[in-house]
Amino acid sequence: MAIVGGGVSGALIALTLSRAGLDVVVIDRRQPGQGSTGASTAMIQFELDTSLRELSGKIGARRAFRAYRRSLKAVADLKALTAAEGIRCEWRDRDAVYLAGDNLGHRGLKLEAATRRRADLPSEFIDADELKSKYGVERMGAIVSGGAGELNPARLLTGALNAARKRGCRIYSGHEVIEVQNTGVGIRLATDTDGEILCKKTVFATGYETIKSLPKGRFDITSSWAIATKRIHPRKFWPTRCLLWEASNPYLYVRTTADNRVLAGGEDSGLNDAERRDAAIPAKAATLLSKLNTLLPGRSFEIDYAWGGAFAVSPSGLPIFAEINDHPGCMAILACGGNGITFSLIAAQVVEAWVRGKRDSDASLFEHAGV
Ligand SMILES: Cc1cc2nc3c(=O)[nH]c(=O)nc-3n(C[C@H](O)[C@H](O)[C@H](O)COP(=O)(O)OP(=O)(O)OC[C@H]3O[C@@H](n4cnc5c(N)ncnc54)[C@H](O)[C@@H]3O)c2cc1C
Repeated sequence: MAIVGGGVSGALIALTLSRAGLDVVVIDRRQPGQGSTGASTAMIQFELDTSLRELSGKIGARRAFRAYRRSLKAVADLKALTAAEGIRCEWRDRDAVYLAGDNLGHRGLKLEAATRRRADLPSEFIDADELKSKYGVERMGAIVSGGAGELNPARLLTGALNAARKRGCRIYSGHEVIEVQNTGVGIRLATDTDGEILCKKTVFATGYETIKSLPKGRFDITSSWAIATKRIHPRKFWPTRCLLWEASNPYLYVRTTADNRVLAGGEDSGLNDAERRDAAIPAKAATLLSKLNTLLPGRSFEIDYAWGGAFAVSPSGLPIFAEINDHPGCMAILACGGNGITFSLIAAQVVEAWVRGKRDSDASLFEHAGV
């Protein structure tokens, strides 16, 4: 069993399959974690960037409710997996507070909260007064959701790969898979270093990058930027240190770190060029800092580090886990999006069922974008 791509998706798939006793190889064109995962701010939420009401309009309420509920379960499963494997990834349980913004004002958030209640999700609307007194933030209202968390993505990645390695998984860096062939009895992967891997099944967890000889899935690339502030005194944080994100476009999202910094990110755009993304870092960082100081006044945050990254996102906001047309035995994990780590865990569960010749009960939610 080969996994192409050593980001968080590839790592969680490798760990899940290794725990199931399978013979697994991971191959990455760089060092693992140099794709989206290395840039991630790792707010771990069941909520998608597409609201439940909007997703219901796109794929029907029944399927949208199932997708959200599966996402809620995935956050709990990820926490349980890291605990079971002793992966010290700085996991903290947090509430996620979705603030009224220019996309959804307080009326829109109330409707969204009511829809979520029908889907049996742990979300409730709070008004401006309650928001101010419980979380110290001034907005017209918010949806507060339980079942969220934060973690250190580099530690999650390394911990998952190490745990897989202990079970016999082999990990190769610096080899780019450039060709995929069906040999009749299996799959042959050829690399740019003149290597080859022969295997029965392959998962392509290549993030926003695609392999030329495979069809491209239906997704767009989004660029996103983030800042880490200098450390501040823990007393200066907002009450509960909850995850904060705005119902705006572009949005701002904020969390704290285990070493007492604030991470703020957002300013997403459709830019799909690494050089221009990097060139935009100073301007995007300045905007993020200004928005952060407005949201949480009186702290005078200072930037310690700023960066940009990219991820792939599908039209519905759901990821794509699909067998590849004309390549039997190959599955693509695509478009995990801006809340992608939760989806990486679901990907691992869907892949495990597929490898065993079974079908995950929610597989159909994630396979219709066509690859
Ligand atoms: C700035 C930013 C902030 C984010 N914040 C959050 C957040 O708060 N919460 C959240 O859940 N998600 C967040 N995300 C999204 C999340 O990081 C991604 O969904 C997730 O990291 C995707 O992981 P992946 O393993 O699928 O892809 P990647 O991490 O991109 O990994 C793909 C890997 O495949 C390798 N590869 C590609 N092509 C080949 C090839 N041909 N041969 C061999 N190897 C290959 C690459 O080198 C790479 O290592 C954020 C993303 C960004 C950019």
